[in-house]
Amino acid sequence: MSIECAKVEGINLSQGFSDTDLAPEISVAAKKAIDNGINHYTRYDGLSELRNALALKLQKYNHIVADPERNITVTNGSTAGLFCVLYALCKPEDEIIVFEPYYGYHLNTIFALNLVPKYARLKPPDWKIELSKLEKLCSSRTRAIIVNTPTNPSGKVFTELELREICRFAKRHNIYVITDEIYEYFLYDETIHISPGSFKEYIRNVITISGYSKTFSITGWRVGYVVSPPEIARDIGFVHDLFYVCAPAPLQMGVTAGILELGQEFYDSLRNSYQCKRDMICDALDRARLTPIVPKGAYYVLADIASVPGKTSKQKVMRLLKDTGIAAVPGEAFFHGDTGGSVARFCFAKKDEIIEKASRILEKTRY
Ligand code: PMP
Repeated sequence: MSIECAKVEGINLSQGFSDTDLAPEISVAAKKAIDNGINHYTRYDGLSELRNALALKLQKYNHIVADPERNITVTNGSTAGLFCVLYALCKPEDEIIVFEPYYGYHLNTIFALNLVPKYARLKPPDWKIELSKLEKLCSSRTRAIIVNTPTNPSGKVFTELELREICRFAKRHNIYVITDEIYEYFLYDETIHISPGSFKEYIRNVITISGYSKTFSITGWRVGYVVSPPEIARDIGFVHDLFYVCAPAPLQMGVTAGILELGQEFYDSLRNSYQCKRDMICDALDRARLTPIVPKGAYYVLADIASVPGKTSKQKVMRLLKDTGIAAVPGEAFFHGDTGGSVARFCFAKKDEIIEKASRILEKTRY
């Protein structure tokens, strides 16, 4: 959709990256690191400065106790994190439970490693999990369940109760909970972020993946991390070293400075500004009668595009692009089979003036 959007010089609300500005603390530290010669391979699990900063942040924000020497692996973005986790844990034909709607890279990573996805469909508007369905999906081949909280594309934020149920289920079946928390700071309406890695009784079953692409608006930097029990961390580190060697060294220093130097006001302002963007785009979609499922977290909104002409959601988003110059992702990208045909995902991680422009256009749109 980004390519199609560029052809018509449209407003790209399809791809999930933020065009908001980078905090100077982060860019200054990265440039300084280059000038100071931090330009080489790092240790297989990342620079100690970053692992130490992450351990502090994990303790303070996520309530996860992580030893920087044994539990943390810095990865080439969280995308590499998931690849390495699954590569380290699984053998071909193992089964992985994913919640649907899912994030496409999760599914394609599963396919790339010859693993088998098992889909746990969640229903709008509150996307509640049903434990009995999870039980039915579990077999002797199941190795893990992937959680993404806050979720791309639905904006669901899992509750503590749900996460505890998932962990209990995982422990009972001796499988892992792999939790992708890349949107951990993008939360709306008083919602709070809970990390399953903070539940002491399930510590051996939980693998936490996150990164700074979204929080610091640095998707091109490729700095993420995995927190896991030490014996798994060694395997993940081995695989990461083999495929990626390391995350960019000076950029690891930039992220370290961001973690240590940016205070609570940075995170409060992130939350407030994204909540305004969410409200703006949801109001505009409502007025265009493309009813949104208002997200509680992350920076996407799924909207009902059933009224837009076209048979499939792909045809519908192409029609929307032609009529309005606004690009969205067809719902088919987040569901298997024929589902998702009447929804589209709009990304609101854009500068206010872009969201305002898109909103003005959407408000005049009627199907
Ligand atoms: N996880 C989810 C759920 C995402 O939406 C994205 C970005 N679209 C990523 C991971 C990718 O993160 P990274 O840049 O750290 O690889």
